[in-house]
Amino acid sequence: MLLELKTITGEAMPKYLYHCDNCQERFLAYHLMSERLEVCEKCGSKSGLRKLPLFPVRLNKNKKEKKVGEIVKSHIKETKEEVEKEKEKMRKDYRP
Ligand SMILES: [Zn+2]
Repeated sequence: MLLELKTITGEAMPKYLYHCDNCQERFLAYHLMSERLEVCEKCGSKSGLRKLPLFPVRLNKNKKEKKVGEIVKSHIKETKEEVEKEKEKMRKDYRP
């Protein structure tokens, strides 16, 4: 079994889910992040292997909201500046 595999630094080896288009099998593989499995464990195919996201990337909700808030804030600021410019223009236009 590959379950006990560890990296050189002693950390647990990251696992990846693979799907083989050739034999329609799915299996977990343990290897370093920089590596990629190219041969299907089940059928030996070298062409049909696809790495699937095992843990869907979940955005930090709070972080995301903060970012959106920042965008809104900067947008409001820009809008305000636009309004100020317009006001100034109008003031100038009203001058005789
Ligand atoms: Zn296969």
